Amino acid sequence: MSVDPSTPQPPAAWHALDADEVLRRLHAGSGGLSDEEAADRLVIHGRNVLPAPPTRSPLRRFLEQFNNALILFLLSAAVLAGLLGHRIDAAVIVAVVLVNAVVGFVQEGRAEQALAALQAMLAPTARVLRDGVRREIDVAGLVPGDTVLLEAGDRVPADVRLLHARGLLVDEAALTGESVAAEKTEVPVAEDASLGDRTGMAYSGTLVAAGQGRGVVVATASATEIGRINTLIGSVDVLATPLLRQINRFGRRFTAVAIAAAALLFVFAVFARDYAWLDALMVVVALAVGVVPEGLPAVITITLAIGVRRMATRHAIVRRLPAVETLGATSVICSDKTGTLTRNEMTARHLVTAGGTAVASGGGYSPEGALALERGGEADAGMRRLVLCGLLCNDAELRQRDGHWQVDGDPMEGALLALALKAGFEPDMALADRPRLDAIPFDASYRYMATLHRGAGETAELYVKGAPEQLLALSTRQLDGDGEPQPLRAAFWESAIAEAASRGERVLGFAMRTLEHAPERLEQEQVAGLLFLGVVGFIDPPRAEAMAAVADCRSAGIAVKMITGDHAATAAAIARQLGLAEAPVVVEGRSLDGVADAELPALAAGADVFARASPEHKLRVVRALQSRGAVVAMTGDGVNDAPSLKQADVGIAMGRKGTEAAKEAAEMVLSDDNFASIVAAVHEGRTVYDNIRKVVAWTLPTNGGEILAIVIALLLGMTLPMTPAQILWINMVLTVTLGLVLAFEPAEPGVMRRPPRPSSAALVSPFMLWRIVLVSLLFTAGALGVFIWAIGRGLDVPTARTLVVNTLCVMEIFYLFNVRYLHMTSFTWRGARGTPAVLWAIAGVVVAQLAFTYAPFMQRLFDSRPVALLDGVVVVLIGVVLMVVLELEKALLRRLGWFEELALGGARAYEGTRA
Ligand code: ADP
Ligand code: MG
Repeated sequence: MSVDPSTPQPPAAWHALDADEVLRRLHAGSGGLSDEEAADRLVIHGRNVLPAPPTRSPLRRFLEQFNNALILFLLSAAVLAGLLGHRIDAAVIVAVVLVNAVVGFVQEGRAEQALAALQAMLAPTARVLRDGVRREIDVAGLVPGDTVLLEAGDRVPADVRLLHARGLLVDEAALTGESVAAEKTEVPVAEDASLGDRTGMAYSGTLVAAGQGRGVVVATASATEIGRINTLIGSVDVLATPLLRQINRFGRRFTAVAIAAAALLFVFAVFARDYAWLDALMVVVALAVGVVPEGLPAVITITLAIGVRRMATRHAIVRRLPAVETLGATSVICSDKTGTLTRNEMTARHLVTAGGTAVASGGGYSPEGALALERGGEADAGMRRLVLCGLLCNDAELRQRDGHWQVDGDPMEGALLALALKAGFEPDMALADRPRLDAIPFDASYRYMATLHRGAGETAELYVKGAPEQLLALSTRQLDGDGEPQPLRAAFWESAIAEAASRGERVLGFAMRTLEHAPERLEQEQVAGLLFLGVVGFIDPPRAEAMAAVADCRSAGIAVKMITGDHAATAAAIARQLGLAEAPVVVEGRSLDGVADAELPALAAGADVFARASPEHKLRVVRALQSRGAVVAMTGDGVNDAPSLKQADVGIAMGRKGTEAAKEAAEMVLSDDNFASIVAAVHEGRTVYDNIRKVVAWTLPTNGGEILAIVIALLLGMTLPMTPAQILWINMVLTVTLGLVLAFEPAEPGVMRRPPRPSSAALVSPFMLWRIVLVSLLFTAGALGVFIWAIGRGLDVPTARTLVVNTLCVMEIFYLFNVRYLHMTSFTWRGARGTPAVLWAIAGVVVAQLAFTYAPFMQRLFDSRPVALLDGVVVVLIGVVLMVVLELEKALLRRLGWFEELALGGARAYEGTRA
């Protein structure tokens, strides 16, 4: 008793100790610690977090920038050039390589930071008792001695000795590798029991598969079993997406081909065209560098990271990077109703009992308001019993914060407490009269909740609330207005339920039963032969943002389907209010059971609402939709939703009411549980994909044009229009800076007014391929044209080359403006104004280019010459001409009606929406 908690305890065999002994040793009570005590212990034991996995050191990350065939190739060329006395060429190559490595290093660091920030946003919480009150705190704040509450879907937040367990099944695969969930109880086991046999313990990192439990924390952080074996679970994935892998693979192949082609060109230049071999070598090295889009993967990573950041500001937290790409292709969104499409702010409105009906006034969770009976007067015994049932069969608490009434727990249960207060009940007194003995928690598979209370003498009272059809089926009699049992009139109740549901109310049924003797435990079999008390209709208005988001989806060709555990009529009414469809097609979960897998796709595609659907139904619906080529985003919150979230192309978990199991199965977590955030994420996903395409559409032809000019000159045996150092300058300084800008592009107007991209569409669509060829040719013509024109006017070769470099730079800038809008003309005020990123990059490039042309040291490095003002004007005019030509081409394609077809890749989009 007198042990000071600050002295380290010997590692106890907590599993072998009796629950009381555990509490005693931890100086903890069953009501939890006080806040001060917990704070003190936090200082002693430290935060309950496992050490982060080692990250790559900055030096290592910097050096990895050089681990690239192209860079190594360049560096060896630099060494060779240096040895042969071409000092300046060697220095330029080295400088360019360094600049490139620094840029890559910074870009990568920013992308990693963006993802690390997301990890922090997903910090899990735990429910604890502090000072006897239920609270939700950060898992990091748990200390030994804390009492934690466990529920299906929770990740166990620390090593816990169970004090109470009810149907508790824990999946310990993370720790023991055992895939069958272990049954947990509060009883101690032998001291030498192995980890998997310690039924009285729940270990940190394992997952509660079913049931409920309460336990005391015995170890946190590295002292936990999982901390000792030092594995990390549930972390955010690293930077790799299918698209990025595709681009990397493309890049590697391209590099190999480019180097081989360069070698051939070298042989040709030396033997057939009599170039000096060292000059030829430097040129082909520069060419190989020019042709390889080495900056592409980095720019794409940045684009994805920016998308992730933008999504996070819109309450969608991406857990797996590929989701960013997939979101943009989403063609069907399957959404929960309660809390996602609706506000999940419940108010009990209509009460129906056998003795009469009543309306509750007031809004929110405030206890202000009253019950007005239809026939007037006071609530009778039957009505009071109904309200009492809602009060007792309840786990929520109401609390007033800043003058606002709020619920801790289920909103519907909060509404029932408010109703009881309006009806004049004192919750504490009611519970003191009938202490709770046991409970069966609500589960979406049987759709009710039951609590057992001590009654008069030896008796016990069972109170049940749940889906009304369910309770009617379990009831044999009903309670009349005087509180006397009478035969059940099912038809009466059914019409009452249908009436409330058709108003869009969420309807709950209530029933009870008296038991002669209080049983040891409450079992499901005892929930039968009930006395039906009545039904309550709750209002839960649709979210205003959700209505707008549904409309957005319609214009964006994305089908929205509601999948809910709620009643068909309620769901249909809400669907109508949301504008999901004029006359929503509703399919009930149980009617799916009779449908063969082969017929399901057609049925699923045609339905707007799936009502009374279970998690298994969700899984079947996702599969059915996918079999028709749909890219499906699906929401979920419970443990049982994990399989369908995994199956969906984008699994979306609720950040607030979602379980840890659902979050871990999901690709994305909504921090505000709001449907509108899904649509915002789709919007960002489409933007990211557009931007990646813009980066590619810009990078490939700018590289291509410049290279083609040199190759043509080489093949013809002309004086080369650029020196190797100049080629490197354009490639690794100008192009890298300008290309990056496209990663920051905002969405084009109308991103949500075109159909989803077919998931089979190639990144490089026919339109882009055509574009790459056309622009490459225009660049070549511009570069060679200027060169020939300048030489023809009698300018010296270095001046002519300086003009060529400036021309390419100007054309890159103008083409950048053209590419910013793939789907519309760039001749708009918005298009001309650009973004801060565009303007900064252009300012930087212009300054660099002026230095290149006029600064003496640059002239020495790059053999450049000052350019006359008039020549400068001509160079800018070439850019203007390029822009006009490309805009005319856009307009022409649009005229011919080929534009969207080509831009989208030709493949047909999934027909998810019905006309
Ligand atoms: P939703 O898809 O609207 O979230 P749920 O699966 O949560 O639906 O609930 C399905 C049905 O189960 C509800 O319509 C209601 O009848 C019943 N129900 C929901 N929550 C509770 C609860 N806490 N206690 C008893 N019954 C509940
Ligand atoms: Mg629900």
